[in-house]
Amino acid sequence: MYSLQRDVFFDVNLEDLLISADKVAHVQVGNTLEHALLVLVKSGYTAVPVLDSAFKLHGLISKNIILDSLLGVERIETEKLAEYNVEEVMDTNIPQVTLNHTFIKVLGMSINHPFICVVDEEGAFEGIITRRVILKLVIRHLNQE
Ligand code: AMP
Repeated sequence: MYSLQRDVFFDVNLEDLLISADKVAHVQVGNTLEHALLVLVKSGYTAVPVLDSAFKLHGLISKNIILDSLLGVERIETEKLAEYNVEEVMDTNIPQVTLNHTFIKVLGMSINHPFICVVDEEGAFEGIITRRVILKLVIRHLNQE
């Protein structure tokens, strides 16, 4: 039987869990849906952040959002891939924290989100924390008990 002390998570430094911005696949404001779909399919990721040229985080774009935006009444309107830009359809409800937040907060957010974005106080993108990395840490603590 496992028992896990809540305290072990108080000392977790979110920076240690971060996949830094330079290693995160992203698209830019102004990119077409076609470009975003290429990035998503080639990378194999379900969703990636949408940043501007100053690395400020604006939203998330996913395969599902793109495919949904192509649905017409009777057919899939693939011509929209070149006509629409990511900012017209992206999800602006972004799960995000700063590095000052607690691990417990991020753990809770990961119930509904496969990754959490990390931004600085000005909203500049610093990277992501994935559910995979969070679960690995929890399992490591469980195995230490
Ligand atoms: P994972 O837990 O590694 O399967 O990642 C879950 C989700 O986080 C992926 O489907 C992506 O949406 C996102 N993700 C993980 N790693 C990256 C990365 N290096 N660049 C962009 N998105 C990522």
